[in-house]
Amino acid sequence: MTLLLCLALLAPPAPARPKLVVVITVDQLRPDYLDRWKSQLTGGLFQLVSEGAVFADGYQDHAVTETAPGHSTILSGLWPAHTGIIRNSQGVQDSAATLLGVAGPGASPQRFRGTTLFDWLKSVDPTTRALSVSRKDRGAILPIGRAKEQVYWYQSGLFTTSRYYADSLPLWVRTFNARRLPFKAANATWALLLPDSAYKEDDNEPWENGGRDVLFPHRLPADSVSAAGVIAGTPMLDSLTLLFALDGLEALRLGRKGTDILAVSLSSTDAVGHAYGPDSREIHDQVLRLDRYLAWFLKRVVDRVGKDNVVVVLTADHGVTSFPERTRAKTGAQAYRVSVDTIVTAVNRDLDRLAGAGASRAWLSFETGMLLRAVQGVGRVDRVADLARADTASDPVARRWIHQLAPDAGVVLVITLQPGSVWAVENSPIAMHGQPSDDDAHVPIIFWGRGVKRGVYRGRANTVDIAPTLGRLLGVTPLSLIDGRVLTDALAPRN
Ligand SMILES: [Zn+2]
Repeated sequence: MTLLLCLALLAPPAPARPKLVVVITVDQLRPDYLDRWKSQLTGGLFQLVSEGAVFADGYQDHAVTETAPGHSTILSGLWPAHTGIIRNSQGVQDSAATLLGVAGPGASPQRFRGTTLFDWLKSVDPTTRALSVSRKDRGAILPIGRAKEQVYWYQSGLFTTSRYYADSLPLWVRTFNARRLPFKAANATWALLLPDSAYKEDDNEPWENGGRDVLFPHRLPADSVSAAGVIAGTPMLDSLTLLFALDGLEALRLGRKGTDILAVSLSSTDAVGHAYGPDSREIHDQVLRLDRYLAWFLKRVVDRVGKDNVVVVLTADHGVTSFPERTRAKTGAQAYRVSVDTIVTAVNRDLDRLAGAGASRAWLSFETGMLLRAVQGVGRVDRVADLARADTASDPVARRWIHQLAPDAGVVLVITLQPGSVWAVENSPIAMHGQPSDDDAHVPIIFWGRGVKRGVYRGRANTVDIAPTLGRLLGVTPLSLIDGRVLTDALAPRN
């Protein structure tokens, strides 16, 4: 008894946790942007890169590099193979979880499996709360898994949530919506932030934005309802999302008692990147504006909860591949848009041929995959059953497919396109992501703030490592088996 008491007295007090974890996911942010325009970054991106723990070889290390699978990895510590969120089209759609106060697709985390950092925190601190916001339902929902917290996304000019989370919108959300800021963007102009000479990119490339509205300045429609839709393709929606997040921070008094989570997913980089591509003047300006918005946002957060109480993570859900048309024109490389129809036609042709030769169910044989390789733009075809034998250290494509697919996913063959090639989207000649390529998988992973050891760290780090690293920093442990590991380089010694 006495001995136990002594030990209890000698044990150091549990370190107080930071009071606010801010998780910023920039949709489609390639890390090379931060190098390419480094001298022009003076705001939040500059602050995080220069003062934070920067993992230069960060990856969303799975195959289908889309928004929903990417967001599902960030605070769960799990690959898409284990979160169950393996593509956008099987992400958060849920017709039973209708939206509040506005028409739009219902959404919930019903397909998400596993737990997240929020659940781990909540298990030791029942007062923990989370606010997660995005332009996109999947960007808001997936970072906190199945938790029924404050989760809001943008639909037709308003921030809303679904009936999975609530039956009515709180006053602060209704008050924000009542300002009708997106509708007031009618006739607004997106002009270059810096003088023309600061941008080396050609503003007039034929593959941009389907050939329409390719030159600065870009003007929003005069009609307010149209403007509230089109604004999603401009930097302005990022500033709106951050403003909304700050209103929530204030209204919910996050970061004042226990440790709370504020997750913000910013989608304008994705919209601008799809329309104008990763080599455009538009994406350059978008990243500069994001940098300035984040400076303002981080300052407001730090002013409110105190620098010693905040830890910030910045990452992305995926990168992006240049327009194949641009790659062909500029480098001569064989980069294509590959249509799923072309693949299906090729399979059917093979089936006919093989069936004619007396083969049955030949489409499940590996020969089909070999024949598919003849389709222009197809790089390789793997039989899922063979992936387990691949050398995952030297074969990132095999590794990323293993991280993508649960063994019981029922997938037999997987097709990976040649570098620079993308899946075609019908009637939409946009820049694309979704491949297990470095262009699409390489993302920034940056920690900043309380408990973080500044530096640039080499060696592969993955987005599944973010949650266990934050967990270690916060002194909480995962509630279930996870795939990620603690990035100890990022942590100051006292952790
Ligand atoms: Zn996208």
